[in-house]
Amino acid sequence: MNPSYELPRDEAGYSFGFLDEYAKREVRRAILKAICIPGYQTPYASREMPMGRGFGTGGLQLTLSLIGRGECLKVIDQGADDSVNAVNLRQFIELTCPGVDTTEHTGEATLIQSRHRIPEQPLNSAQVLVLQVPYPDPLVVVEASEAKRKIMHGEGDYSRLLTKLYEDIVRFAEITISHRYPTRINGHYVLDPSPIPRFDIAKLDHSPALILFGAGREKKIYAVPPHTRAEPLVFDDIPFRAEDFNDAQGQRRACQRCGASDSFLDEFSSANGTATFQCSDSDYCNQRVAAGNGVSCEVTS
Ligand SMILES: [Zn+2]
Repeated sequence: MNPSYELPRDEAGYSFGFLDEYAKREVRRAILKAICIPGYQTPYASREMPMGRGFGTGGLQLTLSLIGRGECLKVIDQGADDSVNAVNLRQFIELTCPGVDTTEHTGEATLIQSRHRIPEQPLNSAQVLVLQVPYPDPLVVVEASEAKRKIMHGEGDYSRLLTKLYEDIVRFAEITISHRYPTRINGHYVLDPSPIPRFDIAKLDHSPALILFGAGREKKIYAVPPHTRAEPLVFDDIPFRAEDFNDAQGQRRACQRCGASDSFLDEFSSANGTATFQCSDSDYCNQRVAAGNGVSCEVTS
């Protein structure tokens, strides 16, 4: 083989970004199409990655196709930089992308790969958010055939999905979907926003940052381009309700570590069985503590 055809490789023997240049180019083409048709699930030839499907292979392929030297990357899982999935993905990207910086600070990152959360700190137009997606199609709960789902998406026919939401209201007096809330993009396609909580849906709407979704197993890429409408699917007379974290008295709970009362909270059980709440976004919490917003969590009796 003529050595001039060989791609540049790092010390570990991988070409930059692990994927070959043709694969990256194909992913980028799919990204461009996804941006041109907001919310449309663009098929692409998802590559085998050295990790199991379901561990973020779709998001990883987007990140590896977009990343370049000088980029600053943040990887989070459930809002935290130090959880297993985030650490493994970050290490893999560091190994295969020499020259790329990583950060835990949302404001410093140019590329953010996330699972289950959108950072609390508002994103800016210089940033790209990549979300890992297990199930890309919100219609899969009402229609098993992909061919029929494609027609329904094309015609903007979400009546069966609305019927499903209506059944929820009849049975439970409210829509019970907590994550993956169907969201209409730019007035047409309804997408599955990946398992982010309802709390984060508002962050999709008119986001200055490009938001990309990658489903590796299902071989789909879709996008919410910057400054694009994103509206949760609702009825006129039943407003969309996000998690409010109010206690029984209607008081908004605060993070027991940094005192924030505007963040998405995770619930923990303390040793004596009482519930405590802490920011799910670890960077947001740490930054607030560093800025002197910490509250003492020591309970003295
Ligand atoms: Zn906090």
